[in-house]
Amino acid sequence: MRVLILGAGFGGLELATTLDEALGSEAEVVLIDKSEGFVFGFSKLDVMFGRASADHVLHRYADLAPPGVTFVQTTVRAIDPVARRVETDAGPLEGDVLVVALGADLHPGATPGLVEHGHEFYTVDGAFALCDVLAEFPGGNVVVAVTSTPFKCPPAPSETALLVHDLLASRGLLDTSTVSLVMPLGVPIPPSPSASSALLAAFAERGISWHPGAMVRSLEAGKAVLADGSELPFDLFLGVPVHRAPAVVVDAGLTEDGWIPVDPATLRTRYEDVYAVGDVTSVGTPKAGVFAEGQAAVVAEQLIARARGGTAASYDGHGTCYLEFGGGEVGKVDVTFLSGQAPTGALEGPSRDLAADKVAFGADRVRRWFGREWAP
Ligand SMILES: Cc1cc2nc3c(=O)[nH]c(=O)nc-3n(C[C@H](O)[C@H](O)[C@H](O)COP(=O)(O)OP(=O)(O)OC[C@H]3O[C@@H](n4cnc5c(N)ncnc54)[C@H](O)[C@@H]3O)c2cc1C
Repeated sequence: MRVLILGAGFGGLELATTLDEALGSEAEVVLIDKSEGFVFGFSKLDVMFGRASADHVLHRYADLAPPGVTFVQTTVRAIDPVARRVETDAGPLEGDVLVVALGADLHPGATPGLVEHGHEFYTVDGAFALCDVLAEFPGGNVVVAVTSTPFKCPPAPSETALLVHDLLASRGLLDTSTVSLVMPLGVPIPPSPSASSALLAAFAERGISWHPGAMVRSLEAGKAVLADGSELPFDLFLGVPVHRAPAVVVDAGLTEDGWIPVDPATLRTRYEDVYAVGDVTSVGTPKAGVFAEGQAAVVAEQLIARARGGTAASYDGHGTCYLEFGGGEVGKVDVTFLSGQAPTGALEGPSRDLAADKVAFGADRVRRWFGREWAP
């Protein structure tokens, strides 16, 4: 069985590693990505706030651990889901099984004025460039804002607002600064009332102004214009850009309403032997690495059962999210989506012990996927 995995992010790395561990030479696993290496989403915040260097958080695909996986660094230009064939800059590739794990593309240019007047912190380049901008920021009005839905890692804007506050405090700039957070959600983490209350309390304690149910539609010099026409002045704008499925996925006819619909139990698309996992799907979980990883595990189980016999469990939509509260403290929420009931999850922490837990979360994956010791 030849398995072609498009995208070596959270989903693609987990799938390739699990298949190689379980099936060895019984499966030929080809993993394709256009990038030089993988960067955790949370590492973007670490680099942005000067807690890690760009080089430290890049896990190069040249160092991939699973010995049987063939990695091809190239860009996928076209996908034929019927023939399970892709066109790439390195030539055509085919598989018995095709797994689309290409994530969400980010479009800062889709929000008028964002590129000219503000910054975004969701792309690797955007977040890394902010390290110098934040280090040199002399204080003033900071606006952290979402520009459209859906967006990856719903806690990240809240974490960013708290970390900006920490940075201003450490540099003695609080007296001359404000921090505002503009979010489309009514509460910071809808499935977790306890996490939402704790975050709202943390915002109130720090004087971070919270703008729920709102989005920034455009930027002009020094002011952000919200969807309802109101304006927020800023000296520094940190935005979450527009997310879209990669054009190559849309052009292949795989999407409906912008994302790839899949069977939520199996992650199968409507094409035979074509699966999709992670941010590129509309499976019903938030767009986050832990969910992409859980979906990859379910696809892996099905392919292992196909090769070896046996049955595979259905996807349950479970994931654990870590939340940075600032001051070196991290909270943790366990949530299960897709159970047929409204998802709920209680907040554990925040605490320094859970910050160590989050470090272990990253270290475990780097050990498994890249075969080396690493601490974020
Ligand atoms: C600031 C921030 C903080 C975050 N924190 C967390 C967190 O704490 N926990 C968490 O679980 N999630 C977090 N996330 C979200 C997480 O990063 C993503 O949800 C996750 O990476 C999605 O996994 P994926 O496999 O679907 O896609 P990705 O990991 O995005 O992988 C997709 C891959 O496809 C490749 N690709 C795309 N198009 C092509 C093409 N045409 N040809 C070849 N390759 C291509 C890309 O290079 C990429 O490597 C965070 C995100 C951000 C921005």
